[in-house]
Amino acid sequence: MKVLTAHQMKEIDRLTSERFLISPEILMERAGLSVVLALQSELKDLSKKSFLVLCGHGNNGGDGLVVARILHQYTDEVVTVVVGDKTKMSSETLANFKRLKAIGGIIKFLNEDLSLDELVQMVKNYDVVIDALLGIGIKGSVQGILAQVIDVVNLYARYVVSVDLPSGLDTDTGKVLGKAIKADLTVTFGLPKLCHILFPGRELTGILKVADIGIPKILLNADEIKRNIVTKDLVLSSLPKRIKDSHKGSYGKVLVIAGSKNYPGAAVLTSIAAYRVGSGYVQLVTCKPADEIALVREPSLIVRGFEQEFFTPSCLPTVFEVAKNSKVVVLGPGLTQSDQTREFVLQLLKELDLPMIIDADGLNNIAENLDVLFQRKGPTLLTPHFGEFARLVKLPIEAVKYNYSLVEEFSKKYGVITLLKGATTIISNGESTYFNLMGNTSLAKAGSGDVLAGMIGGLAAQGLDLLSAAFCGAYLHGLAAEMYNLKEGTMLTSELLDLIPKAMEEVCK
Ligand code: ADP
Ligand code: ADP
Ligand code: MG
Repeated sequence: MKVLTAHQMKEIDRLTSERFLISPEILMERAGLSVVLALQSELKDLSKKSFLVLCGHGNNGGDGLVVARILHQYTDEVVTVVVGDKTKMSSETLANFKRLKAIGGIIKFLNEDLSLDELVQMVKNYDVVIDALLGIGIKGSVQGILAQVIDVVNLYARYVVSVDLPSGLDTDTGKVLGKAIKADLTVTFGLPKLCHILFPGRELTGILKVADIGIPKILLNADEIKRNIVTKDLVLSSLPKRIKDSHKGSYGKVLVIAGSKNYPGAAVLTSIAAYRVGSGYVQLVTCKPADEIALVREPSLIVRGFEQEFFTPSCLPTVFEVAKNSKVVVLGPGLTQSDQTREFVLQLLKELDLPMIIDADGLNNIAENLDVLFQRKGPTLLTPHFGEFARLVKLPIEAVKYNYSLVEEFSKKYGVITLLKGATTIISNGESTYFNLMGNTSLAKAGSGDVLAGMIGGLAAQGLDLLSAAFCGAYLHGLAAEMYNLKEGTMLTSELLDLIPKAMEEVCK
């Protein structure tokens, strides 16, 4: 499913009107109706509830005025409060103001007909607050009376439904512009916006419903919209097929270069994950004692263990030798950082022409030598978490968190694919971008990223391009965590490995 910026949504609105002759008024009517229908499916009998509809003077407020009018069909317990200026309403919003008045709807202007203290009482007393204060037209930070109203709603409302997006969110980043509503349910129109899927916006959105309001499909499916949410259907259609007449060679050979004396476990997790997603042959090159630990845990691994404590350039000839028949390389988990390991990593990147997934210390070891990426002879995927990405781009963590534009620019500049890990994971090759929403806090545990790198390697070995392997891997990894049915946070990363089959089965159901 595609996901939009505010600018893209405004363009779609414009084209819907200009090219397809579906006026903003028609869209506003359907938007309002879709919110009421969503409310009905959540709350069932609307006639038994009371509704406080809070409207700004923009078009988001116009949608709210339609919601109020339609709610009056179900119950008399509807009050509309306008937080804004009637003279600033667009023609569509004003028309809906008049329609609501005409059916006898109660409309109060905050600060004129109603004090903030009176509003506090109403917010406390009504079952449902509809937030139609600010939409995608928000500019700058929320101040004054609107900021106070948002505080009141967040403090006292029992159940909040936001129209299009929680008021106060930056549509394109999901950041809070000073103050923002915390919604239980958000009903958005046409397609999701970035603020619904990026934190903190994703959390403030609550349950997200995407309503069809009659925007022509050709606009919603346009090729120029390059950002997507990874869905089950996308993963299913991208996964490698199993062929009856096949053998281990049919499913590709993964070479995992990982581990050191101090971090043997990472190498084990990465290698087994590559097998779990279906690759036919996983070779682990590591340093003692990871070789022995790996074989005890999974005897089907083909393991080569160097006697030394960490990788050095002297390992290169052996690595090139075993790389010969490999389809893909996963480099980095548990390597540690030392001058010699850095030299080993840089040489490997320059000389090995296989598709390569670079994670963890593979990344840390190139942070001061990013130009090495220009010398890569094969496709490259980097899988940093926020801290690793911050190190690569030399910015504070706060500046890189969920910064999809930066991920896109970085990928384009260096000719790589980047997968930025987080509670929402962002994957881009500089042209197309994918957002993975699967997963939960069970993954916030050492080693889960090592598992992800191995899964992606295993998928790439079976013929997926690195971009598809990355978004499929991220989705399956998140889904595997969601399949753990005991208390979130109690899962061991080794158990995550054992849930990969369940996740693969779930996707294929
Ligand atoms: P649109 O009408 O463009 O669809 P909205 O319904 O989101 O967009 O409303 C935008 C209106 O809200 C603008 O006309 C402006 O007057 C007001 N507005 C925008 N940003 C802020 C802000 N940060 N604080 C208060 N009011 C704002
Ligand atoms: P490690 O290096 O210990 O293996 P990483 O930080 O590299 O771990 O990777 C952690 C993995 O867990 C990433 O795939 C990330 O997206 C996922 N993850 C971490 N915290 C959360 C969370 N709160 N919700 C969803 N996924 C998470
Ligand atoms: Mg990691």
